[in-house]
Amino acid sequence: MKSQKLPRLKPIALLCMALALPWSANLVQAANLTPEEIAAVKGDGIDNSVRPGQDFNKYANGGWEKNAKIPENKSGVGLDDMLAEESDDAVARIIQKTLQAEPGTATRKIADYYQAYLNTAAIDQRGLAPIQPRLDAIGALNDKAALATYLGKNLRADVDPINNTHVYTENLFGLWVSQGFHHHSKYQGYLLQGGLGLPDREYYLANSSDMVKLRANYQDYIATVLKMANVPNADLAAKRVFDLELKIAKGHAPREDTSDMLKADNTWRKADFNKKAPGLDWNAYFSAAGLDKQTEFLIWHPTALKASANLVSSISLDTWKDYLRFHAINQRASVLPSAFFNEKFKFYSALSGTSVPEAREKYAINATNNALGEEVGKLYVAENFSPEAKESIRSMVTNLLAALSDRIQGNTWLAASTKKEALQKIKNTYVGVGYPEKWRDYSGLEVKADDAYGNAERASAFEYQRALAKFGQPIDDTEWCMNPQLVNAVNMPLQNAIDFPAAYLQSPNFDLNASIATNYGALGATIGHEISHSFDNTGAMFDAKGELRNWWTKADLARFNASAKALVAQFDQYRPFPDLAVKGQQTLGENIADLVGLMASYDAYHAAMKQKGLQPNEATDKEFFMAYAKSFRSKVRDEVLRTIVITNEHAPEQYRVQTVRNLDAWYKAFDVKPGEALYLEPKARVKVW
Ligand SMILES: [Zn+2]
Repeated sequence: MKSQKLPRLKPIALLCMALALPWSANLVQAANLTPEEIAAVKGDGIDNSVRPGQDFNKYANGGWEKNAKIPENKSGVGLDDMLAEESDDAVARIIQKTLQAEPGTATRKIADYYQAYLNTAAIDQRGLAPIQPRLDAIGALNDKAALATYLGKNLRADVDPINNTHVYTENLFGLWVSQGFHHHSKYQGYLLQGGLGLPDREYYLANSSDMVKLRANYQDYIATVLKMANVPNADLAAKRVFDLELKIAKGHAPREDTSDMLKADNTWRKADFNKKAPGLDWNAYFSAAGLDKQTEFLIWHPTALKASANLVSSISLDTWKDYLRFHAINQRASVLPSAFFNEKFKFYSALSGTSVPEAREKYAINATNNALGEEVGKLYVAENFSPEAKESIRSMVTNLLAALSDRIQGNTWLAASTKKEALQKIKNTYVGVGYPEKWRDYSGLEVKADDAYGNAERASAFEYQRALAKFGQPIDDTEWCMNPQLVNAVNMPLQNAIDFPAAYLQSPNFDLNASIATNYGALGATIGHEISHSFDNTGAMFDAKGELRNWWTKADLARFNASAKALVAQFDQYRPFPDLAVKGQQTLGENIADLVGLMASYDAYHAAMKQKGLQPNEATDKEFFMAYAKSFRSKVRDEVLRTIVITNEHAPEQYRVQTVRNLDAWYKAFDVKPGEALYLEPKARVKVW
């Protein structure tokens, strides 16, 4: 899960930003790195003037860091950017080949989607014509029942609060269909808050001068868009739209509540909605959304649902119509005439820290990946992920699962009952390597080579219909929520599953020709990290089936929290800026995952060498720890580093590298002595499991 405490892997700034700034996800792109820069990220990069025990990150990555340049349009540069760049290049080559495919075939849809998106001349020429039917539909709304129908008809499956941490939608609400919190065997609908143009309620409510200015700019941007859409009295209309959003924001749950499973665990019967959240005609809403057969929903944000439903009745229809006009355009600005795209970029780029947009091709690749992800993924995997690599990584996963089982088995303080549940959970874990077991079928998606806007609308409706079709079907715990060509990894607690997309399983994270120690130091530690998320403070709330249930004894939980405390203190000491320290508590779940993952991978690499009749030694230990450090190689701008420290659930990369100081073997391998900055007395080294 990519959420607060259960996310994926080692996200460098780019992924952190994509995570933290979801509203601009399609404006955030991979860096444009030159081949020399890519080689540098992958290269040795050691700084021999630094003692490993003084600063292990500086020693392992300092040589690279000194020379690394952050591209103008980027907030950072590093290993994951480089892999993302390689993946985009591979996808670009695939798309070129699909241009030759027979019209009407699934493969040809890739080419058509991409080309339609790329053809800005055609998009400009059509003006607002593609979106006009939608604007007309908004104009024709004549009462609140019609408004409820419009809102329901445009509900989309565009959120996922657990696996991908997609908790943002511009629609008033968002739907996620997944295994039930308490009924693993059936699919359930989860309803989330939405409806804001800025990323989070904080942007509407915080009092800092930056935020005040941002809000003024946002209102101006709304006015600009409405003017361009020929809405009369656009300035006044923009003010009313902003005021409505402010009211929606006040009803929203704060970010920390969104990642709290217990606060999200509210089941409402459909029959009770009109009573529990009056103001919106829920019958009309659900009927238009195609949800009338569902008898109950899980309400992730009950206060927001109530507040927003109330606003539907208390705010004038005319204001709602302007609000809908603005959001209809804002959501699709990238496939409307360039004037709209430029205005959107001008406003939102202030939030993402980039000053120039990427090449249109980059956005087109992104959009194609979003719409036809697994169709592209199928071709990506065929060219970039060998069966040998898959088999080799499978055996790493097996060794990692065994190492973690052994650690739990050998644990001296866990109650027998907790231990049994934990071992069962490991045993039940599904691990996907590279790509899903079965590919998605896109035959129901119509793609036209000359209709970028229509393609985007149809792709989003197609996703929605796919989500609805899950109701009543047998559940599938092997289903993926990420494309194989995405550089990431994910732990999905409701499925008790972990997936590693092929684009992440590339050199230097994994290389068939690299040593066992190197592969385990890099990829092995990530596999261990993801598995151990199943047992961090949030993961531990889900049992072996994937249901939300407390299976820990009180004493075990207290003990777990006590050893976690030492890790909190360790990270609290790190200061990237004189006035700002890393937040040990905020980053705890990730730091536990790093530590347990690294320890498990260390055990697993020794086991793997012995399986091959090889003997691990200090030299191979060195390789292991160096590969671990290198896998975090990244450099970000100071402003971004500050944002990460303040808001992200991951500690900055340079401190994640220092996790090694809790492993005895690291001291031996690098001859680390008392008095050196990273030295910890043996009893001060943290061991969670
Ligand atoms: Zn994580």
